[in-house]
Amino acid sequence: MSFDYLFKIVIIGSANVGKTSLMIRYVDDNFTVSKQTTIGIDFKTKDIEIDGKIVRLQIWDTAGQEIYRNSISFSSSVYKNADIILIVFDLTKEESLNKIDDFLNEIENNCRTNPLIVIVGNKSDLIEEQLENVEEKIKEILNGDKFIFFKTSAKDGTNVNELFYEIAKRFTENQ
Ligand code: GDP
Ligand code: MG
Repeated sequence: MSFDYLFKIVIIGSANVGKTSLMIRYVDDNFTVSKQTTIGIDFKTKDIEIDGKIVRLQIWDTAGQEIYRNSISFSSSVYKNADIILIVFDLTKEESLNKIDDFLNEIENNCRTNPLIVIVGNKSDLIEEQLENVEEKIKEILNGDKFIFFKTSAKDGTNVNELFYEIAKRFTENQ
C-alpha cells in the first residue's frame, strides 16, 4: 500500500519504563507483563489516516542504555532522519524522570535533524504510586522550554492511540 507521508518515530528512555510495551500496545494492541527483550534496534510500522492522508509511522524501539548504547553505529542509525523522538519515563520512578536531561543531551549530540521531542510518562495505571508535580519537574528539566507531554499506560491502553495520533497530526500540519 502506498502512503502520503512517512514519519520516523524513535522511542528512547531508561530501561523498563515501557518503551517496547508502548510500541506493542500501539501497533499490535497487546500487552504482556513480562519484560520485553529488545535486541538492538527494532522497528514496526503502522499506517493511519489523518485528514484524508495516509501516514505511515515507522516506530523505532531502542534497548535503553541496556546494551548497545554508546556505540556510534547505534546512535547514528537510530537517530538518522528521525522526525519525532519520544522520551519515555516511568511515572512511578523518579530516577527515570531525572534521566530526561541525559536523553536530551544525547539527542543534541547525535541527532542531526531537528525532531519534534515528546515527553511520555508511562504506567499511569499505577495511579497511587505516581510521582507528584511531574509536569513542574519536566518544566524545570527543560528549562521552561515548551514541551509536549503525554501520560500513558501501555498496560490498559490509556492515551496510547491519542499520543501517536496527536504527534503524527502535529507533524503532518508542519509538512
Ligand atoms: P522497556 O525496557 O522500556 O522496553 O520496558 P518494557 O516494555 O520491557 O516494560 C518493562 C516492564 O514494565 C514490563 O514488566 C512491562 O510489563 C511493564 N510495563 C510496561 N508498560 C507498563 C504500563 O503502562 N503499566 C504497568 N503497570 N506496567 C507496564
Ligand atoms: Mg524494551
